[in-house]
Amino acid sequence: LSILDEGRIAIAALATGAAQGCVDEAVKYAKERTAFGHNIGHYQGISFKIARMQTRAHTARLAYYDAAARMLAGKPFKTEAAIAKMVASEAAMDNARDATQVFGGYGFINEFSVARHYRDSKILEIGEGTTEVQLMLIARELGL
Ligand SMILES: Cc1cc2nc3c(=O)[nH]c(=O)nc-3n(C[C@H](O)[C@H](O)[C@H](O)COP(=O)(O)OP(=O)(O)OC[C@H]3O[C@@H](n4cnc5c(N)ncnc54)[C@H](O)[C@@H]3O)c2cc1C
Repeated sequence: LSILDEGRIAIAALATGAAQGCVDEAVKYAKERTAFGHNIGHYQGISFKIARMQTRAHTARLAYYDAAARMLAGKPFKTEAAIAKMVASEAAMDNARDATQVFGGYGFINEFSVARHYRDSKILEIGEGTTEVQLMLIARELGL
């Protein structure tokens, strides 16, 4: 079980990378793709979506840095690892969904990396304990 606690930080780091990758790809594409006379990043429907994606990636990074720092300092980190794993894997999945939408039809085509993120991110919400298991752990640590 203690190995799982450490593994959850690794999954959170992996998920943060996927979440940030979705942001980076979406920003690049939003500057390139023109529709209705403007780059699609000009439209707030797109730019707000990408701003929210960046917020999720940043929050995920802070959560896993915190869990890792506690582990390296020899402090208890079970709850923080569970929170980081859940927040980061949900960020990866949500960002993959939104990045796919930014790419439109290309988001569905395997040659584009967001399609790979969409497929790969789901396992991050399952392996090393599902999201529901993380919630059980967090609730248990709260005495519930
Ligand atoms: C590609 C891949 C690689 C894997 N690699 C490894 C590995 O290297 N090592 C390893 O040990 N395992 C590995 N696994 C297994 C993985 O850890 C499990 O699939 C995962 O923990 C979920 O367990 P389960 O599949 O038995 O789902 P189940 O336990 O059957 O859960 C099914 C659903 O019910 C929910 N659920 C279950 N119990 C509760 C409850 N009490 N309250 C609320 N909801 C609940 C779950 O959250 C889930 O949504 C891998 C799985 C995959 C797909």
